This record gives sequence, structure tokens and C-alpha cells, in this order.
Amino acid sequence: MTLQFPFDNTYARLPEQFFARVTPAPVRAPRLVRVNAPLATRLGLDPEWLASEAGVAVLAGNRVAEGSEPIATAYAGHQFGNFVPQLGDGRAILLGEVIDLAGERRDIQLKGAGRTRFSRGGDGRAALGPVLREYIVSEAMGALGIPTTRALAAVVTGEAVRREELLPGAILTRVASSHIRVGTFQFFASRGDVDGLRVLADYAIARHYPDAAHAERPYQALLDGVIRAQASLIAEWMLVGFIHGVMNTDNMTITGETIDYGPCAFMDAYDPQAVFSAIDEYGRYAYFRQPAIGQWNLARLAECLLPLLADDADAALAAAQGSLDAYASSFEQAYQGRLRQKLGLFTACAGDAELGRDLLEAMGAHHADFTLTFRGLSEASAGDEDDGGGRRLFADPSAYDAWAARWRRRLEREPMDAATRRNAMLAVNPAYIPRNHRVEAVIRAAVDNDDFAPLHELVTVLSRPFDAQPAFAQYADPPAAHERVLRTFCGT
Ligand code: AMP
Ligand code: MG
Repeated sequence: MTLQFPFDNTYARLPEQFFARVTPAPVRAPRLVRVNAPLATRLGLDPEWLASEAGVAVLAGNRVAEGSEPIATAYAGHQFGNFVPQLGDGRAILLGEVIDLAGERRDIQLKGAGRTRFSRGGDGRAALGPVLREYIVSEAMGALGIPTTRALAAVVTGEAVRREELLPGAILTRVASSHIRVGTFQFFASRGDVDGLRVLADYAIARHYPDAAHAERPYQALLDGVIRAQASLIAEWMLVGFIHGVMNTDNMTITGETIDYGPCAFMDAYDPQAVFSAIDEYGRYAYFRQPAIGQWNLARLAECLLPLLADDADAALAAAQGSLDAYASSFEQAYQGRLRQKLGLFTACAGDAELGRDLLEAMGAHHADFTLTFRGLSEASAGDEDDGGGRRLFADPSAYDAWAARWRRRLEREPMDAATRRNAMLAVNPAYIPRNHRVEAVIRAAVDNDDFAPLHELVTVLSRPFDAQPAFAQYADPPAAHERVLRTFCGT
């Protein structure tokens, strides 16, 4: 047999408390839903082989590919603020790692491939709906240029899974820079396993933050790197109107990639209080709370690293605090820089932050669509007659007019010519995001009618979020009142 996956595994070489070896549980009648050909090619895999019977058998867990050393990784985590000392991959199985064409190491993982030692009461399976949601949203995120895990393939299993009702089962093949979470550090720290912690930190440095190895204090440099990566990631989420929905510490990577798309959502009308997740009863993970929750989660990571930061407890605490103090400015810098670009401001001036804040405030007060407002500004920036349609998005368009007058005065101080600015703005303000009602419609067609055509069309449109696609203009539209989806479910 030729080597279809050029596996080169490192995590499976770590000490045995890091994972459990496990074989995916075969499924009855696997069938390919979709394979991500461009991603496959970038990983050095043959998309045609992946779509073949032998490939689908691997993607379904019915065959273990040569060189694969399947494991379920161990981790802990704070779930909605409560610490759970043992979580771990209860329904995900890491097949192994490959080096992609850019020389980056990537994990290849099956999600929904059967029970593991960490499954607790769960069945180890995934339902088709959540698999499609993760496929669509993670690929959309990637196309938006926001760090994320990716979807390599989805298959249906030919078996039913029992949730509230019986649903078709499916398996997602997920690709990530790694699956090391804040919760992975918590797993070792909460057991007082400082040796394990050090092995993990050294591994994380070697794999993700190689420069930290040469820093004066490598472990603090690791912490600083994670803080910067997460601050930047969450700033990006905020500026596309993304709500993760379950920012538990086990759902936060140390690479700064978005991971674990459960009850996530992109907002339509701007609403800082927005919460979609049905399980987020108290709005802990509401849109506007995400930056603060990020900091809270990073404080948990800093606590874990204390034994490595200094021999002396006070010195370790001071070091951790010093690193955490940088989060707010890191976030602000990433956020304001990105917001300026979205407004067509390519130089920094006093008052820019207020200008951005006041736009968002007016959008909130007048229920303006987040995505279309910024897209409209891109057109309006070049002096478009009806202001890019943006003003019509405001319940009271005069609120837009008052703000836009200030914005135009500010644009006069920009050196860039109008056409260049318009193009630059169109390249950072998407037309197409995975709107909830579109995602739901895809899921309904797939689950109720075994019809995957809407999935393929949506994924194709979302792969070019910044391009005008006249044939698919309706995909840019917000939902009509009766189409609005107000609740999303993680479906575990
Ligand atoms: P999540 O909400 O997907 O981040 O999952 C939280 C924890 O529950 C993780 O440890 C998962 O592995 C586990 N889990 C979620 N769904 C299942 C399932 N169907 N079977 C087994 N474990 C699960
Ligand atoms: Mg998770």
C-alpha cells in the first residue's frame, strides 16, 4: 500500500499521560459529503484519493491509514467558569500530523469517530447538523483570513445518533496547527504534575513559539506569545461580528486559532449583548464579553505556568501579572488597527477610536446590519451616490448621516486616493458571512432531504467573502423577519 497520508507524528511520542491510544470505531455505511480539495492539496494529500472508497474509509474511521497512530488527547478545562479536572477528546481522534506544503505541521483529527477513554457518558459521535455548521463556519473563517482550524472533509456514517431525537450521524475531519488548549495545561497543573507541565510547555514552544526558546525567560515568552495571539484573534472576531458561544478554557487553543465551533454565530444586526447559544443561559459568552473572557481564560493559563515562571512564588506571580497586563493593550492595538482599516483610515489620528465607537453605537441603537454597514462604507468612501446603501440599514438614517458627515471630514485627511481606498476597504469588509439562516437552511436540506446541493453552494460563495458575486447576491442579504435564527445549539 502506498503512503496516502505522509504522517510524521510527534504528540503520540509524548509521555503516556498526555493521551489515550484508541482505534476509531467503524461505521455502517460511510458516504462522502464533501472533501476540501484546495486544503487537501496544501496538506500534500490527493483529493481524488480522499474521495475514493479507500479514502472515505479512512475519513469514516473504518480504516486506519498507514503511519497513523490514533490518539485521544487529555485535557481539563473551565466550563462556564466551573473547573472540570478531566475532559479530553471524548469524540475526537487525532490520526496524526503531516507537514504541509508551506512546511507547517498540521494535526489531522476525526471528530465524531467513536468513544474514547474520555467520553464519560457521551456516545463519541457527532450529528450531521453540527458537523455541517463547523464545516461551513470554519471554512468561512479561513476565507476571511481569521486564524482557525479547517475542515478537510465531512462524511455521513449511515448510522443514527440519539440526541433529543434520532439524527443522521456524521464525522468531520478537522485540521489544526495543533489541538493544544489552555485546558491541556490545566490538566497537568491541576494534578500537580510539574514534569508533565514542563514537557508540554517545551513541546508548545518548539512547535508554536520557537523564538521563545531563545528568550531570557522562555516560559514567560510562551505566555506572552499566547496572550498576543488570543488578543489578536478575539479582536478579529469582534470586527466580523462573530460570537464563539462556548469560550471555555478547553475551547481555547494556545496558537490563537478559533476552535470548537459549537453554537457559534455571526450577528446580523449589530447588538453588543447578542447571545445565540442555547446553553449560555446567563450570557457569559455574549459578544461584548468576549475580550474580557479571553483575558480570564489567559489568567487561567498564567496560573498553570506559575511553577515554570520562577522558583520564587512571588516572582512567578509578578511575572504572570506583568504578562497579563499586556493583554488589554495588545487587544486594543489589534482592534483599533483593524477598525481603522474597516473605516478606510490608513493613518492613525487622535479621535479615530471615538469615531469607530460612535459608529458602532449608532448601529446598535438603530439595528443596522453589521456586515452590510461596513461593506456599504467601502462603496460610500468613493463618493457613491446613495452612500453604498449603508444609511438605509439604520432604523433612523439621520443617525447614519450625522456620523457619516464626521467620517467624511476625517477621510479628507487621508493621503490615499478614493479608488485605492475603496479597494482596500472592500478587501477587509466582507460581503458574505455565514449567516445563521443560511447555515440553518443548509442543515435542514441535508438532514431532512439528504440534499447537499445547498451546502456546496454556500461553501463556494463563502470561499470568496470579499468578492462581489452578482449571481449570489442574495447570500449577502440579512434574514427576513420570519427567517431569523435566534438560538444555536452545540448538538453534543
Ligand atoms: P465541547 O462542548 O464539544 O467542547 O465538548 C466538551 C467535552 O465534552 C469534551 O471533552 C468533548 O470531548 C466531550 N463531548 C462532547 N460531545 C461528546 C460526545 N457525543 N461523546 C463523548 N464526549 C463528548
Ligand atoms: Mg471542546
